[in-house]
Amino acid sequence: MTNIVKIVSEKELHTIMEYYEKQGALLAKLPPGALFSAKVNNVTITGYRSKKVMFQGQYATQEANKFQFQDAPVTKAKKQVKKQKHDLPPQFQTLSVIGSDEVGTGDYFGPFIVASAFCASDKLPYLASLGVKDSKQLSDDTIIKLARTLTKEIPYSLLVVPNEKYNALHEKGMNQVKLKAILHNQALYLTREKIKPQSYDAILIDQFVKKETYFSYINKETHQVKERVYFATKGESRHLAVACASIIARAAFLQRMDQLSKQLGITLPKGAGKNVDQVASHIIRAHGEKTLRQYAKIHFANTEKAKQL
Ligand code: MG
Repeated sequence: MTNIVKIVSEKELHTIMEYYEKQGALLAKLPPGALFSAKVNNVTITGYRSKKVMFQGQYATQEANKFQFQDAPVTKAKKQVKKQKHDLPPQFQTLSVIGSDEVGTGDYFGPFIVASAFCASDKLPYLASLGVKDSKQLSDDTIIKLARTLTKEIPYSLLVVPNEKYNALHEKGMNQVKLKAILHNQALYLTREKIKPQSYDAILIDQFVKKETYFSYINKETHQVKERVYFATKGESRHLAVACASIIARAAFLQRMDQLSKQLGITLPKGAGKNVDQVASHIIRAHGEKTLRQYAKIHFANTEKAKQL
């Protein structure tokens, strides 16, 4: 996420507020010390009584550049820069990027899924106009609709590990983080092959492990994607490619959860909470433990809890 801070005059502060007021973009809720807060094009603009205006979001620079400030220097918020632990190239959100993300690692029921997607820089405005953003901020219906469009519009790869396979791998000693690394690498490789002869500026992996560990986990793989690979937490907000990958992965997860629920005739809950234990216990009683293996990640503590119920 880009953060732009401008120090403005009293007059400028009011001019900016009026500009967003006219667009009907002002928000009702204000952070402490703020005179106004507005949201347009996924950019949040906050004007403080201290005559500071902050532009936050992927297109913060573009939004800030709509105004001509007297004291022009654009300063990045120091605190935010410090918080973001990454070494992404400048103007990262405008580059052509292959992004990857995974779904289902925290869910007892359902498969483990990794997706990667390529967003060429010239497609970014279009993708942003579709409303592509962090899948955690989107409803399930929106995710499915968006994924339908994205899978037609951009190159992507989707890897699904069904529960039976996942359980077998885990029993063979494969830890979940290593499995993640291997699948991210594979998904990235497949997308990279798909877009050839076109190239990419960077690859962004939504960070789940230290860079060194990631590369050590994939060092026995036949195809290792290592060129221009970056890691960052909150990857979805750093480049639309990760947001697209997360939407595609999430939609696939939702569809599979739906199929599995239909097969069993019971709605499988997401996550790993108490309701999950109850449904697991029901499956054991109705179909036996063997069946559970086809629907759940059985190394989770939920299995033991379900048996005790
Ligand atoms: Mg992630």
